[in-house]
Amino acid sequence: MQERAKQQEEAMASQQNQRALHAIVLPHPLQGHITPLLHLSQKLASSYNVAITFVVTQHIFSKMQITSHPLIKLVGLADNLPQDHPRQSTFADSYEAVMGLEIPTDSLLQELSSQNQLPSFIIADTFVTWAQKLALKYSIPRVAFATTNVTAFAVMSSTSKLIDLGILPLKTVNGSSKYVDQLITCFPFLPPLQPHDIPVSLRSPSVSHYRMQFVMAQFAELSKAVTVMVNSVTELEKTVLENLEHKVPTFCIGPTLRLGGENFLLQKTGMRTSLLPEQEDCLPWLDKQGSGSVLYVSFGSIANLEKAQLVELASGLGASNQPFLWVIRPGSFEGSLSDVLPVGFSERTRNRGYIVSWCPQLLVLSHRALGGFMTHCGWNSILENLCLGGVPMICWPHEAEQALNARVIVDIWKVGLKVKKEEDGIVKLEEVERVVRAVMCEEGAKELKDKAIELGKVAKRAVEEGGSSLKNIEKVLEVVSNTKASGFSSRAVLRTRYTTCSQESNDFC
Ligand code: UDP
Repeated sequence: MQERAKQQEEAMASQQNQRALHAIVLPHPLQGHITPLLHLSQKLASSYNVAITFVVTQHIFSKMQITSHPLIKLVGLADNLPQDHPRQSTFADSYEAVMGLEIPTDSLLQELSSQNQLPSFIIADTFVTWAQKLALKYSIPRVAFATTNVTAFAVMSSTSKLIDLGILPLKTVNGSSKYVDQLITCFPFLPPLQPHDIPVSLRSPSVSHYRMQFVMAQFAELSKAVTVMVNSVTELEKTVLENLEHKVPTFCIGPTLRLGGENFLLQKTGMRTSLLPEQEDCLPWLDKQGSGSVLYVSFGSIANLEKAQLVELASGLGASNQPFLWVIRPGSFEGSLSDVLPVGFSERTRNRGYIVSWCPQLLVLSHRALGGFMTHCGWNSILENLCLGGVPMICWPHEAEQALNARVIVDIWKVGLKVKKEEDGIVKLEEVERVVRAVMCEEGAKELKDKAIELGKVAKRAVEEGGSSLKNIEKVLEVVSNTKASGFSSRAVLRTRYTTCSQESNDFC
């Protein structure tokens, strides 16, 4: 009896602790990083009563359309870059923007501290390397947040090992940009990788290159975090989780996007995460299309296509005879669209093609008209597709860890096909036509779709009541509550308590 009362008391104390939590959230200033952290913030505020201070650059702040949540405070800080700095155009630009945020965030924490309102913990994107320094300075536990899947996280965290093994820097043929053929077989959770499957940062020409250094800095800092949250699902990456070599307790808490019933409605009407205006006119157009008939083509928020590639893609879409919805971001190509697209393309595809500059992707992916997704393999897009639509994917990786994601989609999950590039790096018209038909019309497409739907169900279960991701969010909150209650130095003790993620059945790796 006494034991039970004690347990109840402890549970109440833990709940009260959680109620008092306040997180300062530090995303990397790019769309693909802001979206999942905003979704997570909303989940933490709505379901766990955690107050959120969400910090972005002023530049991004001015573009945000989020409707306010009483517990979420959005703060825009000057990044001290010139007004005309491109900031979000390339990884290098965004790197400069995030580095510019360190001093202003320090000042913000100082101000909060002087008002006795210091947050109880920091949730910082793994890209925000200076967050750990501030965590130590203000004695606040830092939770690292990875916007990738665990597979990419595990490969990136092995950078030093790949250097020691002599695999990195990748060897090139006579100093050209072509890699020497070699199979990378040191990851037990992956099929043998080709050099071009490795994340782009690790393909840097030398160990001292800033991108490779940046990855190593990320993981050095991350090793001091109290926990790592990954926007993925335990059941989808069980084998990788079992093989993680780094020692920080790592929890899959995804998908961060809110799903189902009332929550999805919220997403439709309230939570807008896009930094670009969404063209909603594509929704009534989708309404008019047959079920499963439309190919959605989008390469995310950063990837660009050169003119020759745009022409081949457009011609291939034209030749495939399939209805398509194509996102062509302004600034992702040079010149005006009418000059870039092949002559007569618009007329030829008028009745079955729709081009937008940016769309409400979550609503598009959940539309019954969708039948396939040609994607650059950004992790958010992949996860969103699995959870909302589950259509087969055509993988066309461009940047970051996207080539690795494509290997997971094609070789491990078997829910998509990859485009083949020619020697000149271009995917030709005939290849576009081939993959579009294979995914939209041919017999094998049903198998891909069934598998994608199955994976989607697994992902959705993780965020239902009692699901692995919700349990993991609770564990992370418990870790920070306990850290807060017993002093920051208890981190080492907490680590030993949570050495593995909760793992359940349904192993897909
Ligand atoms: N997105 C969107 N509208 C579009 C294209 C993309 O809202 O027209 C969103 C998409 O839902 C996803 C994000 O932009 O959340 C892109 O992230 P991802 O990781 O897929 O790729 P990245 O942009 O980081 O390369």
